[in-house]
Amino acid sequence: MIKIDNLTKHYHAAQGKVEAINGLNLEVADGEIFGMIGPSGAGKSTLIRMLNLLEKPTAGTININGTDLTELSSQNLRAARQKIGMIFQHFNLLSSRTVLGNVAFPLEIAGVGKKKRQEKAKELIELVGLSDRTDHYPAQLSGGQKQRVGIARALANNPDLLLSDEATSSLDPESTKAVLELLAKIRDEMNLTIILITHEMGVIKDICDRVAVLEAGKIIEEGKIIDIFSSP
Ligand code: ADP
Ligand code: ADP
Repeated sequence: MIKIDNLTKHYHAAQGKVEAINGLNLEVADGEIFGMIGPSGAGKSTLIRMLNLLEKPTAGTININGTDLTELSSQNLRAARQKIGMIFQHFNLLSSRTVLGNVAFPLEIAGVGKKKRQEKAKELIELVGLSDRTDHYPAQLSGGQKQRVGIARALANNPDLLLSDEATSSLDPESTKAVLELLAKIRDEMNLTIILITHEMGVIKDICDRVAVLEAGKIIEEGKIIDIFSSP
């Protein structure tokens, strides 16, 4: 389970203090697909960067399965980061590497031997339905295929949590649908928790179990989709 308590992030920018996240509380259950929606500037990216351990909170705690991420030593931080997968709007694939090379990359970073990481990468490429593209380069793939590579790569270290930052925002409706179906399948098969940030209502309605609306660094609404977005 993910439990966030009183999370706060303030930036000190040239124009003064920016209160990006303001005492945010949130609980996400194992295996849940949780959607986060909110206008530009609401604090979505800041929240995801803290969940991804790229940024340290000003105050508050992020607890994943009993471990407080804000208390970890730098050594343990690296291990914890490997247990969090991330997918991006612009895929962030390495253009000089094939599909296999991209998916195997996090395993290489983690120090897994060549034979083992290629085996694991091939398994994941099959899971996302791209076995016939294993030796292709990103430039030879469609947007939807690139995101499926991104998903396979995010799963390489068997993460407990998958973070999705506008992962379908650059895709056409058909590819969006395929990527969402893949995420739902992965959640079912791997019992992974997914937190996804999006500005697309359709995405929220299609696959999220629960949703929160973020505004000015605070959650202003939270609940089941039907409770929040059905008209009275
Ligand atoms: P969103 O992703 O919802 O658009 P952000 O998390 O990017 O929101 O931004 C939340 C607020 O924090 C905004 O006012 C933004 O300008 C500010 N902010 C984000 N990152 C920084 C930073 N590195 N330095 C200063 N201010 C920042
Ligand atoms: P997005 O919301 O699409 O992720 P942003 O434009 O909010 O993109 O942020 C892009 C980068 O700029 C982030 O790394 C963020 O930390 C930084 N940033 C955002 N707002 C500010 C700001 N007011 N001052 C300094 N850096 C900022």
